[in-house]
Amino acid sequence: MEKFIKRMINVTKTFLPPQEEYQEILKRAWDNSWITNRGSLVQELEENLLSYLALNQVVLTTNGTIPLQIALKVLAKGGEVITSPFSYVATTATIVWENCKPVFVDIHPEYLTIDEIKIEEAITDKTTAILVTHVFGNPCNVEEIQRIAGKYKLKVIYDAAHCFGVTYKNESIFNYGDVSTCSFHATKLFHTGEGGAMFTSDKELQHKLFYSHNFGHNGPLAFHGVGINAKMSELQAAMGLSVLPYMGTILAERKKVVDFYNANLDFSKLKALKIRKNTHWNYSYYPVIFESEAQLLRVEKALSYNQIMPRRYFYPSLNTIDYTKGQSMPISENIASRIMCLPLYVGLSENDLERIVSLINTNLC
Ligand SMILES: *Cc1c(COP(=O)(O)O)cnc(C)c1O
Repeated sequence: MEKFIKRMINVTKTFLPPQEEYQEILKRAWDNSWITNRGSLVQELEENLLSYLALNQVVLTTNGTIPLQIALKVLAKGGEVITSPFSYVATTATIVWENCKPVFVDIHPEYLTIDEIKIEEAITDKTTAILVTHVFGNPCNVEEIQRIAGKYKLKVIYDAAHCFGVTYKNESIFNYGDVSTCSFHATKLFHTGEGGAMFTSDKELQHKLFYSHNFGHNGPLAFHGVGINAKMSELQAAMGLSVLPYMGTILAERKKVVDFYNANLDFSKLKALKIRKNTHWNYSYYPVIFESEAQLLRVEKALSYNQIMPRRYFYPSLNTIDYTKGQSMPISENIASRIMCLPLYVGLSENDLERIVSLINTNLC
């Protein structure tokens, strides 16, 4: 069994820093006898992240889903929320969880982000917000979305779970929208095991998000509105502090894998993700779009026979799951049926990459 697991190539593999480095940072939590409630490690991680991302404000959270919930609670207020059907389920589930109504708008067939041209016709007098995903780290058309939001007085929340390190027009993508959220889950580019963040450039909103993530506490005895517990712990922050110095390596190693796929896959029968102009991308995923679902299934079978486990991100299209059923989203449903993410992580050898590419290319016919 162990041998089998070792040989398996998954879609991703968590980057772990040398254990001594993690232990060394963790020791500070022991020395302080302080393992949560925004201790010195969380504060240091905040500072280091803001400097890495060139931003001014952040609230660190215990995962990447709860910042979506908080942003929706504060900004969408139970209204209709325009959203994309092509994302991880958390994007839609949080809208339903917060008693808002997801209103899907189909995606652009090449960028895979929401098709901004179709947003206006979905807006009603109950619409309060737009919550959309920069899918695979590829930015939405943020200018056009901002224009529409301004015209109809809507709030904009970006699920930027995939976007650590992405810049658009030389600015962190987290700087766009009223709130941007990120996930620091172990499968994401930068991680704290479990963890996440929310970003806003608005001072007043930052204040609200901060109190919301800590029960509304304003000192030990006073409260500043209703809140919940979404705090990142010192143990999580220790992981983040030990991973962050490796971001340069992580990005460079992932770029090598992406370059290999770009140079060697048979693009007469496959399509790669089209990255929006003016984007500095982060190599977070390597999705390929097949000609048909049958072709995808044939390739998937050949790969899994060789213990290579790509993932069907994102399938199914979120407008087809049981609690949202109703709206038809032809482009998203079609893309979801024939897209798959290939293995991409630090340490994937050229030998393995050659095997993966050859298995794909020979099974495309
Ligand atoms: C991973 C992910 C989330 C959720 O993040 P967690 O940290 O796992 O809670 C939300 N949205 C998208 C698009 C994701 O990929």
